[in-house]
Amino acid sequence: MKMAANDKHDAKHVRVLILGSGPAGCTAAIYAGRANMAPTLIHGPAPGGQLTTTSDVENYPGFAKGILGPELMKVFEEQAARFGTTFVETWATGVDLSKRPFKVETATEGTWYADTLIIATGADAMWLNLKSEQHLREAGGGVSACATCDGFFFKGKELVVVGGGDTAMEEANFLTRYATKVTVVHRRDTLRASKIMIDRAKKNPKIGFVWDSAVVDVLDTNGNKKIRAVVVENLKSKQKSEIPAGGLFVAIGHKPNTDLFKDKLELDAKGYVKVRPGTTATSVEGVFACGDVQDSVYRQAVTAAGTGCMAAIEAERWLEANGAGH
Ligand code: NAP
Repeated sequence: MKMAANDKHDAKHVRVLILGSGPAGCTAAIYAGRANMAPTLIHGPAPGGQLTTTSDVENYPGFAKGILGPELMKVFEEQAARFGTTFVETWATGVDLSKRPFKVETATEGTWYADTLIIATGADAMWLNLKSEQHLREAGGGVSACATCDGFFFKGKELVVVGGGDTAMEEANFLTRYATKVTVVHRRDTLRASKIMIDRAKKNPKIGFVWDSAVVDVLDTNGNKKIRAVVVENLKSKQKSEIPAGGLFVAIGHKPNTDLFKDKLELDAKGYVKVRPGTTATSVEGVFACGDVQDSVYRQAVTAAGTGCMAAIEAERWLEANGAGH
């Protein structure tokens, strides 16, 4: 069910409001819908979440032949709609979690009140913000921010990983399963990653390091939009050089979409929503968080969906316990 842009200034009161339409938000909607809680889901600024910006998804269970990211999200949405989810095409601009019902203001659909709130606003990979990087990423030309998702497509290639944290080390190691060589480009001469991850990467004969350097351009093969090399600049000598590359993995961190919740929910040092271990319960009773917005470690569609399921079940139990059940 799609919500029309009806009376924009009418406050609406719902039992379960879900923010975000990626695997976490949609799975929460499927479970909440099947539990007769008539969920309302606010799409957010990037409907469908990060999967809509990837091509083939081969590791989502149930799709033996793989599926395109945008198609997978369409299936999620259809399934959520089948159980009575109301989709609202807008995004939240402000929240008041200090009293119940919780208040959510939106960009174009007025103010909403909710007995329980499920936050599934996701996280975005950080990019180098180079035109050539963005161009090749959009063209599916070999620029990625997820080795687990895309590494398989780079068999027999020379690859470049940018970053010096645990993700960069983990991705570099993982990619040596497929690549002939992985070059890690880091902007300093000291890695931020933990010792064990550094040791593992340094011991791997397929991994090399380029220190004190930034990727300043990504070159493609004339016309066919496939990466062929990256240009790095030594930040000390200012000298530029080319590294041949059949793929570029950018591993410079993720930014959770939690700006709305600063000072309203407990966030960790990196800005992820803190949840009680083993649950999706946040620091505010009745507010639950699922998916990448509370997960800096796994960040997979299937783990996001798993925590979406948890959030819906916990929201249902919380509503029952607080007298707002059926
Ligand atoms: P991170 O720890 O924030 O590291 C980001 C890396 O990217 C840093 O080395 C940083 O350089 C570099 N960087 C940032 N912006 C850059 C830019 N614009 N250009 C070039 N380089 C840039 O992020 P992460 O590695 O994704 O890790 C996130 C969290 O998840 C961490 O707490 C990490 O420990 C955890 N994690 C754990 C594991 C594990 O234990 N298996 C695996 C993955 C992640 P500087 O060092 O110069 O700042």
